Amino acid sequence: MAIPENKLAFGDGWQYSPAPESIDHIKVRKKYDLFIGGDFVAPVKGRYFETINPATEERLSRVGLGTELDVDKAVAAARKAYSSWSRMKAAERGKYVYRIARILQERAREFAAIESLDGGKPIRESRDVDIPLAAAHFFYYAGWADKLDYAFPGRTARPLGVAGQIIPWNFPLLMAAWKIAPALACGNTVVLKPAETTPLTAMKLAEVVADAGLPPGVVNIVTGAGDTGAAIVNHPGVDKIAFTGSTAVGRIIQKALAGTNKRYTLELGGKAANIIFADAAIDQAVEGIVNGIFFNQGHVCCAGSRLLVQESVADQVIQKLKDRMDTLIVGDPLDKNTDIGAINSAAQLETIESYLAIGEEEGAELYQSACPVPDRGYWCRPTLFTGVSQSNRVVQEEIFGPVLAIQTFRTFSEALSKANNTRYGLSGGVWTDKGAKIFKITQNVRAGVVWANTFNKFDPTSPFGGYKESGVGREGGLHGLDAYLKLEA
Ligand code: NAP
Ligand code: MG
Repeated sequence: MAIPENKLAFGDGWQYSPAPESIDHIKVRKKYDLFIGGDFVAPVKGRYFETINPATEERLSRVGLGTELDVDKAVAAARKAYSSWSRMKAAERGKYVYRIARILQERAREFAAIESLDGGKPIRESRDVDIPLAAAHFFYYAGWADKLDYAFPGRTARPLGVAGQIIPWNFPLLMAAWKIAPALACGNTVVLKPAETTPLTAMKLAEVVADAGLPPGVVNIVTGAGDTGAAIVNHPGVDKIAFTGSTAVGRIIQKALAGTNKRYTLELGGKAANIIFADAAIDQAVEGIVNGIFFNQGHVCCAGSRLLVQESVADQVIQKLKDRMDTLIVGDPLDKNTDIGAINSAAQLETIESYLAIGEEEGAELYQSACPVPDRGYWCRPTLFTGVSQSNRVVQEEIFGPVLAIQTFRTFSEALSKANNTRYGLSGGVWTDKGAKIFKITQNVRAGVVWANTFNKFDPTSPFGGYKESGVGREGGLHGLDAYLKLEA
């Protein structure tokens, strides 16, 4: 059954209740080849790896394991396509990007189900956030394709060439959209590597690219492991690297690029402070805390993973938060009532569990809701730590799971200094009734985005990116165009 057009608009969550039988029509192939030069081609060495459903531990599909040889072919295809793509009339180029956006909207239901199957996130989130936002990024950047002269008045904007793009597993399709949409709109061609545990929506996107009739080689998708990503980073035919992932890998990439002419943007980790002042609307703030840390199982670079709450309301906030945590449903990602889905992989669950042990060893007090979790699959109940201190590892390090570290503060300056006492600087949040406090916090918290009386709100028009060890460069909005252009006087 087709989804009515008026139900597909961005931000309009259409109803989808996927009973297990209703996903039978979702087409996941048994095997996916690489997408190079407009065709699906077997990896040169003929090797494949499994992608599984983290909620059941069952294999979903086998996916091509790209090596240096495949990356070389993909870069050659992108280079060949670049000469005509970069010279194409900009309005024509924009039409192709619009076409991708429209097909994504039409197939939103299928994309949402596959995103939840492959990565474990609740269908409510892939349906209402990931897929509509991915389409919105293609729409937004399609609109810029023929307006670059207005974006950068008095400058001539030229594309960079071949962009190598490497993305993580927490927002698979959305991160692909963040990367591909601005690159194409600016006249670049791309070689994209999805994350190992979540390659399926990228391969579906390859089908969309083919269906949209893009010239062969404009978009190439090479699945594989870390080595595949490194092959893209080190390929001499790549002009720009756009990486989203951990600070540890970002550091390796930055070192590899030092001394080359390659441009780069690095979107890395975070450990955001969500600051609650006593004058905040407490019930709304509690919802904001829940959204800030439990959205997408806490697999969110900008998650509000540190809560700073003013001492006079701390007991009240923590009690309300625990009560709310007890209502959260952990389980089947395809059930529309699920609040917290599966942890993305066995390895990530192990990391999270190691931090639960570290927190307790550091003397923090752990609280976990008592909700039931399925027998198979990877699960973590919503968790919080109280009684932590600033130097604790659970306060300083990115856990990337549904685990919140809570600290209290008395004064505004104490809140600010605790918020900034981190090596990260990606995001933050502030909850207060006073506009003046909001301005003071947003001016003084060293983070790329600070939300006020809300959290985890995304829009293609807003730039996104970090300070300190959270990265280099910005994606989204006008800044996101700049990252794919040479601007000449
Ligand atoms: P990751 O381990 O750094 O991996 C990211 C991507 O890089 C994956 O595709 C990975 O491939 C690939 N990779 C691994 N080693 C590589 C190497 N040596 N050279 C080139 N590529 C390599 O990060 P992740 O665990 O997937 O994602 C979680 C991290 O991403 C968190 O730290 C999170 O904060 C960050 N993140 C940041 C943003 C942002 O906008 N700032 C957004 C989302 C996520 P494999 O999958 O095969 O390992
Ligand atoms: Mg998977």
